[in-house]
Amino acid sequence: MTAGKVGRGTWGRNPCPSSVVPPPKILPLPPFPHPDRVLVGAPLQRGAGNKMGTIYRCRHRSGKCQEVPVTGESSPPPKKNPPKLDIWACGPTVPQACGENIHLNGFCVLLDTNLQQLQRIPAAQPECPKRSSDVVLLIDGSGSIDNYDFSTMKTFIAEVMKRFKGTDTQFALSQFSDIVLNHFDFNTFRSSQDPIALLKHVRQRQRSTRTATAIWKVLMEMFSRARGAREDANKILIVITDGKKYDDNLEYSEVIPLADKMGVTRYAIGVRDLHAQSDPPPSSWPS
Ligand SMILES: [Mg+2]
Repeated sequence: MTAGKVGRGTWGRNPCPSSVVPPPKILPLPPFPHPDRVLVGAPLQRGAGNKMGTIYRCRHRSGKCQEVPVTGESSPPPKKNPPKLDIWACGPTVPQACGENIHLNGFCVLLDTNLQQLQRIPAAQPECPKRSSDVVLLIDGSGSIDNYDFSTMKTFIAEVMKRFKGTDTQFALSQFSDIVLNHFDFNTFRSSQDPIALLKHVRQRQRSTRTATAIWKVLMEMFSRARGAREDANKILIVITDGKKYDDNLEYSEVIPLADKMGVTRYAIGVRDLHAQSDPPPSSWPS
């Protein structure tokens, strides 16, 4: 097909140039084999053995539902003449123990017209992550964090460290306010992995909230071989704060490129009313 000269009132026979792909045809969906039946996912439904999520077939006229028995096991090879392809359903999870952690892996199943499982994707459980991780925890000890929340942070950190016991994960802890206090590095963690002992002497410093400066300092200091960091490990920085930077000469935009360059993955955890807290004026700071 050739388009004619495109101009005022001079369209060709077909105004659509050959290089323009015509819009796709919208084909009608094949009829559902059971017009009174719908599949309903229940991803938060708890089952036996930490299993979470299931699928129900429901009749919308009666409102009655029945669980579809998808197992999550690898499916048998397809039959020679399997029933006509029917439905993909996703949502259930299979628990997988990786160290002290339980991973919940989702999967999808292909169901035939009798709602029997024909195929599963992925066909097998993924392996537990093997790569080691070095995690720096940077906690906000400024005056806008109250004592209770600071104590809760320490409890949270202890629980996280316990959950990763038995995996190839190292932790280091720093507290920031007007300065950065390095409470323990990766070397110390390797020599004593007891969270209670490691956190025993951590006290809140109070004062201002130089968050960007603190991030820059831990990037430069803690992710180093001298501090026990490993070259081939995942580098992770977790900042726990109420979110309000104060009295800080550095901007986040000045430190984030450094984290990107170093390959450090960052997570932020908000404390109480994120952004709502402010530091007390300097006159009220404890000496
Ligand atoms: Mg603060």
